[in-house]
Amino acid sequence: MTASQSEAVANAISAFASKIYISQPAKSVNSKISAFLEPTATFQDSNDPLLVISDLISESDVTAISLSPQALIQGLPYLSSLKERPVVIHVELQDGNFSIVSALKDSGLPIVLSYTAQDSQDVAIAAYALAKSGKAILHFYSPSDDKTKLIAASRISSIGAVDTLEEAFKVVKALTWTSYSKFEYSGPSKAETAFVVLGGAGAYLAKPANAQGAGIIKVRSYQPFDTDSLISVLPKNVKKLLVLEQSHELSSNFQSFMLDFFRDFNKLIDFGIEIIVSSKLLKVSHENSKSIVETLLTNANLAKPVQNLTLGANFESDFEELKTLQQAKQSAVKLEDAYMKILNQVYGSNLNILNSEDSEGSDASTTPEFGYGKFLYAQDKRSQLEELVHNAISSTSFGVDSVELVELLTKWLVSSKSGSATQADSIIELLKKDGSETAAKLLELQEYFDVKSSWIVGSDSWSYDLGSSGVHNVLASGKNVNMLIIDSTPFSDVKANKAASRKKDVGLYAMNFGGCYVASVAVYSSYTQVLQAFIEAGKYDGPSIVLAYLPYKSEADDSLEVLKETKVAVDSGYWPLYRYQPTTSDFALDSTVIRRELEQFLERENKLTMLSAKNPEFSRNLKFSHADDVKSKQQNVARDAYSKLLESLTGAPLTIAFASDGGNAESLAKKLGRRGASRGLKTTVLPMDDLTLEDFAVEENVVFITSTSGQGEFPQNGKAFWDALKSAADLDLTTVKVSTFGLGDSLYWPRKEDKHYYNKPAKDLSARLSFLQAQELAPLGLGDDQDADGYSTGYDAWEALIWEALGVSGQGNGDEPPPITNEDMKIASNFLRGTIVQGLQDQSTGAISASDQQMTKFHGIYMQDDRDIRDERKASGLEPAYAFMARVRLPGGAATPKQWLKIDELADVRGNGTLKITTRATFQLHGLVKHNLKAAIRGMNSVLMDTLGACGDVNRNVMVSALPGNAKVHAQIAKSSYVISEHLLPQTTAYHEIWLEGADENDSSPKDSRVWENRPDGPKKTKTLVSGNALVDYEPFYGPTYLPRKFKVVITVPPYNDVDVYAHDVGLVAIVDENDIVTGYNVLAGGGMGTTHNNKKTYPRTGSMLGYAPIDQVHIVCEKIMLVQRDNGDRKNRKHARLKYTIDDMGQDVFKSKVEELWGQKFAEAKPFEIKSNIDYFGWVKDELNFNHFTCFIENGRVEDTADLPQKTGLRELAKYMDVNGGEFRLTGNQHLVISNITDEDITAVKEILYKYKLDNTNFSALRLSSGACVAFPTCGLAMAESERYLPVLISKIENALEEYGLRHDSVVMRMTGCPNGCARPWLAEVALVGKAYGAYNLLLGGGYHGQRLNKLFRSSIKEDEILAILKPLFKRWSLERHEGEHFGDFLIRAGVINPTTEGKYFHDDVPVEA
Ligand code: SF4
Repeated sequence: MTASQSEAVANAISAFASKIYISQPAKSVNSKISAFLEPTATFQDSNDPLLVISDLISESDVTAISLSPQALIQGLPYLSSLKERPVVIHVELQDGNFSIVSALKDSGLPIVLSYTAQDSQDVAIAAYALAKSGKAILHFYSPSDDKTKLIAASRISSIGAVDTLEEAFKVVKALTWTSYSKFEYSGPSKAETAFVVLGGAGAYLAKPANAQGAGIIKVRSYQPFDTDSLISVLPKNVKKLLVLEQSHELSSNFQSFMLDFFRDFNKLIDFGIEIIVSSKLLKVSHENSKSIVETLLTNANLAKPVQNLTLGANFESDFEELKTLQQAKQSAVKLEDAYMKILNQVYGSNLNILNSEDSEGSDASTTPEFGYGKFLYAQDKRSQLEELVHNAISSTSFGVDSVELVELLTKWLVSSKSGSATQADSIIELLKKDGSETAAKLLELQEYFDVKSSWIVGSDSWSYDLGSSGVHNVLASGKNVNMLIIDSTPFSDVKANKAASRKKDVGLYAMNFGGCYVASVAVYSSYTQVLQAFIEAGKYDGPSIVLAYLPYKSEADDSLEVLKETKVAVDSGYWPLYRYQPTTSDFALDSTVIRRELEQFLERENKLTMLSAKNPEFSRNLKFSHADDVKSKQQNVARDAYSKLLESLTGAPLTIAFASDGGNAESLAKKLGRRGASRGLKTTVLPMDDLTLEDFAVEENVVFITSTSGQGEFPQNGKAFWDALKSAADLDLTTVKVSTFGLGDSLYWPRKEDKHYYNKPAKDLSARLSFLQAQELAPLGLGDDQDADGYSTGYDAWEALIWEALGVSGQGNGDEPPPITNEDMKIASNFLRGTIVQGLQDQSTGAISASDQQMTKFHGIYMQDDRDIRDERKASGLEPAYAFMARVRLPGGAATPKQWLKIDELADVRGNGTLKITTRATFQLHGLVKHNLKAAIRGMNSVLMDTLGACGDVNRNVMVSALPGNAKVHAQIAKSSYVISEHLLPQTTAYHEIWLEGADENDSSPKDSRVWENRPDGPKKTKTLVSGNALVDYEPFYGPTYLPRKFKVVITVPPYNDVDVYAHDVGLVAIVDENDIVTGYNVLAGGGMGTTHNNKKTYPRTGSMLGYAPIDQVHIVCEKIMLVQRDNGDRKNRKHARLKYTIDDMGQDVFKSKVEELWGQKFAEAKPFEIKSNIDYFGWVKDELNFNHFTCFIENGRVEDTADLPQKTGLRELAKYMDVNGGEFRLTGNQHLVISNITDEDITAVKEILYKYKLDNTNFSALRLSSGACVAFPTCGLAMAESERYLPVLISKIENALEEYGLRHDSVVMRMTGCPNGCARPWLAEVALVGKAYGAYNLLLGGGYHGQRLNKLFRSSIKEDEILAILKPLFKRWSLERHEGEHFGDFLIRAGVINPTTEGKYFHDDVPVEA
């Protein structure tokens, strides 16, 4: 087998080195050799790798280091410390520039050189033979395209240590039959001239030189330079030595290579050398080698040869590697741009980046000294200017009309002395007009009139050596200069790479040093905190250091990956967010977890106690900042409980370990445990990850029950156990009896190639246990959702085998209590109280109990956890980062500016800093931790917004069409929505009791509660008086069990359908007469979106038309529909409980007649109407009352501040303006926002605000404007895949193709959800992607453009590359073959790409076979 040069060098490395360190040009650009090696650690060239590596090298381990020439030069100071270590440093001279080799002549390390694939392998072997004796050696190899045979590792690795290079070459000769020496001569034996070539050019020069009678000497060993060896290979007639060094630079400087020949000059003279001529070679090839040789020989034959000629062609700079590197650098700059944009926002034209890329002779990674030097220079110039101004004012040597100028200059001088500047622009203008000599002198220094905010921007490489990096100098200067240090090392790399821990904490260093403002920020964690830090740093009159986190593994990473890495680092305390004011010694902790070093600093400064006292909510996290402590505590508790349990039981032990995401495996495990206990077994049920391998090995009987996650992966709470088991080589399980049961769905992965994912975890686990020789208690059992009884079919058979094997099969299961259902929880909750109050008070956990989690939904609150950091926290022994989502009940979707301002404030103060406009036109706040929840709910109520019934099995928020163009109609439908919402609102007083009653320490004012105490609508405060004078909670429509499932009502106004009227339990189509009076509504019933993957009994459905009802009856009609559903909906199976199934099960006519029966009236014939689209129309419109409305694009409804789009700040400013001048906000069902009711007088001011905060930008592709995604990761507990964060990325990848096909302005409704619950109504989209597993989606096509037709599954479980490969050609076909005005979904059906779905019941029919 032949191999490349890199592979050949790697072959030698692998055979000898036990430690391998590789430095690469960029995170996404590997060095060539890395493809063939498994490094101990990798580094980046720009991060001074040798500094770190030199610390890691021992005297005993043979070590290989692969470096770029630049990294080697950077690390020169550390080479001497390696001298006595068994190290070989390999350097590929990527572009043939050998000047670095001669530059290292004084490094003190031997240098060997190679030029081809074969000699690179051989010389590397020689180098290791020498290194084994404890000597470091440098090996340079010139790139070569040839191939060589690899020498078997077994033959190489037996080579022992040698003391000299000559001996090493002998060893190689014995191995390969190839001779090497320090200098190698080729050419005529009678040559009188010899070329000594340091570089790869020798290969080209040899032939023409030999033809001219001259010889070539290849330099194999450069240092120590051994003149005797050189002489030993010279033919005896040689009189002239032509010394050639290959390089890139055009210079006439004396070659340092030449100096080596003067060391033992006399020896050369004694040999007979008469003349030595030095020249430099650039690029040499077959084309120019002959003329180069001729020129060199002609020059050498002159009486006085010219020294330092430069010959050869220029090296092109377009090496592929360099281009890739350049691209990577640009990507890195793009990522880091997030911080630069915020700096620009804060300081605008007053920002002075002292080491920006356009600084002369510098780039962004330039050392701090460079920037600091520039700063000092500028200060010097400013002092000069001050002196000139002082003299100018005193001498009054300006032109005639200089009174104003002198006055301004005087003011400027005073302000300049105090570090600021006044009216610099006016001064410069007047100076230009003045024309005097004095003015001209001042104008020469005009750039120093302004005082700028000076920043030095650098990378985390500065953190490795604070003393020499210049950071210390800036600190010690006490000058008003700011440093922004961007750290890009991901936390996961730090954990894996011991070397990275060598890095210093600049923040701590600076705080300990004193007199410096310090902030640690992360733009992907808190934009506001970055902003604050930049402003505070600028204000502080002294040095400031802002440490900014921007972790990325590769320069090509997108912002989503950076965000996830950031969250893990901040949450774990690796990257705490804080700000430190040296003047007051105020320390503000902006995140909740800190790492040990910082804790020690704070302890010392006595700040920790103060922090805990100030922020009691921190104290828990502050105390738990060390994962190890927590973990060990938790393990002890678990062990104690486990021992107690064992002690109390008597029968045969049975340990049941489950891995479960959705809860099925867990409840099966618990069921098995209960049944085992009733048979007298000592059963223990625990998550798989809680079973240690040590405990497992001493168990008697262990059964595993696991479900299947993602693409055949283990569920979250089994992953760690599986990873440990997989890698446990010497685990002895011979005494343990085991069995495994798996839960899966054999149709979940319809493609043949994916079939093996079915029950993969269980199969893998069973195979591994058998490999580890565990005994079989019962064979592997598999439960399949597709079996007649679902997984129970397989489970029942498997369970019987377990009892049989344990000898307890004859005994029954005892009295098993039935599982607790949602219906039980509702009944037991006492009208939605449960134990919520107690749960909120329990500070030992961020969570609430399982049944309270169900009850809080009725209060509009969901418990969630941050899934981005779930694994990390689990690994650290911490509970998930629980937080709550609160959804506002906002009938009509309108919010006053005051309400907006409050929600905005709550998002910052109580939530995660963002707010979400939902797919049902209301607000959601995410990230409300338990102790903030009540304050957030009270805050909402203080502006008359509540959350009652926003989730849960009740009527939800009533959504209406945003309708910016018709004020009169909008007012009527908004009123209808309000009436319906109030009419169907739960009457329980539990909401009031739990969230609103009494005063609360978090109320912003004692008056807060008066607002809702006196509210006539919304949540009820007083119970109902029933017979016998008893005051009780009474639900006239719901009763104690409320509805079987959620119930949703929407109103639309044709031709618009921005609410997706067909997708909800009740869809009301407004019928408007010629006077814009809404006379009534056509009533659709039974729409619904939620489904379960591969469960054909579940399906999405569009609403069925019941008929027309007059406007004054509409709330009654909604009530009656709800009551029929209440009494007939399926309360046993929540997957079959929505109204859509009730209607299909009853039949539409029967259902309608039951509604009419309760109503006491009949529906009239539905009135004609025409709907044309379900999208939003962006930009300004004027309504008939002359009010202006602007629909702005909020991508997927997430209102937040980013460096590119400070939308949240912009909308806050807008709300402040509107609060004074009038206007309101309307939220749309497509998750966008209408700035409403703006008068002509205010429109200019509003436009200015929109422009300033980039809210007026609607210039996106029509696809993006028509797209929508649900929340999904990281907060939604049901998400199987990304949605809100990923759809924008995917659309960007499609947009180029759309542009190419001329489709940029053609609207296509595209929707994405993270699971089949369908919150963003994907089943009605023309193109839909529904999450199946992380990174994998079902693709559905053929929905109707205005939401009237369901789509159909086209492909299952496909990833991004397949999605793009399918969609792009289909878009192209559409662009070429569509009929006039034909929408994409319609086209796909006409073209036969997908069959139409005519009714929900047929959603699963006619699916393409390849789907
Ligand atoms: S569709 Fe699924 S993933 Fe998306 S928000 Fe709804 S429940 Fe969560």
